[in-house]
Amino acid sequence: MRILPFLFLSFIVFSCKTEPKIKTDKSIGQYITVLGVAQDAGYPQVNCNKECCKAFYEGLEPKKLISSLGLVDLETEQKWLFDATPDMTQQIQDLKTAHLNKGKVIDGVFLTHAHIGHYTGLMYLGFEALGGTNIPVYAMPKMKTYLETNGPWSQLVTMQNIQLRKLKQDSLISLNSNLRVTPFLVPHRDEYSETVGYKIEGKRKSALFIPDINKWSLWKKNIVDEVKKVDYAFIDATFFKEGEIPRPMADIPHPFIVETVKLFENESLETKSKIQFIHLNHTNPALKDNNVLKDSILDLGYNFAKQSEIYEL
Ligand SMILES: [Zn+2]
Ligand SMILES: [Zn+2]
Ligand SMILES: [Zn+2]
Repeated sequence: MRILPFLFLSFIVFSCKTEPKIKTDKSIGQYITVLGVAQDAGYPQVNCNKECCKAFYEGLEPKKLISSLGLVDLETEQKWLFDATPDMTQQIQDLKTAHLNKGKVIDGVFLTHAHIGHYTGLMYLGFEALGGTNIPVYAMPKMKTYLETNGPWSQLVTMQNIQLRKLKQDSLISLNSNLRVTPFLVPHRDEYSETVGYKIEGKRKSALFIPDINKWSLWKKNIVDEVKKVDYAFIDATFFKEGEIPRPMADIPHPFIVETVKLFENESLETKSKIQFIHLNHTNPALKDNNVLKDSILDLGYNFAKQSEIYEL
């Protein structure tokens, strides 16, 4: 008789491992799911022979996809992407198999800026790949002009694989009666485009998405106040601390995790727990599944965005 519970448990464990979980619970309605957490160049990173990426090649760490959010509305059977990463093929598949395998391939893509991890996935919508038809791509004015006037991106426009929709800073877009999106400018290395973050609002909850920003002090808004206004804040955690990479880090400014933690140290646990660190460089110890430095941040009440996790809106 004792074998029965064991068999049942084994069946559950086995089932979880082999069958993709499809999210069909319509009571949840609208939610964000995390499709990737790594910095632009992904994990492992090209030609990295250090411990960080060796862990992947030795089978100790799984591949981590590039930072991206999926926005899903099960009620209206729609789904959107935030950023078009080089890992987009896998990320669209994850959205389809684990969340919503109905409706269009994708109902739209929101771009933050023209750095490689955030827009080059658009190539998969074009002639050599999906061959999409008028897929809405939401972009700020400079980003839109950049795509229209530089190949190969301009071909996506002329062949009408994508349909560019111009965003205006601080101007709200209603995706349907349940979901709203607002872009806002943030300071960053803007070689080809401006950079935005997004506020994503559902019927009950809302989120911030700021995958790339220079130091918080350079932003005209106060990040602590902005985090307090939402339920989830997916924010730039590229580097853990100063000295992490052998390059002058002032040339690639990002808020270090330790700096963000310092900024929020006197805030309530409720505020701290809204933070979902995302966009981690391959050198960031917190990109690892298990790490003492990562644990020290988790112990303070902060969170790390988890791939395939669901954040109800
Ligand atoms: Zn980036
Ligand atoms: Zn590495
Ligand atoms: Zn960037």
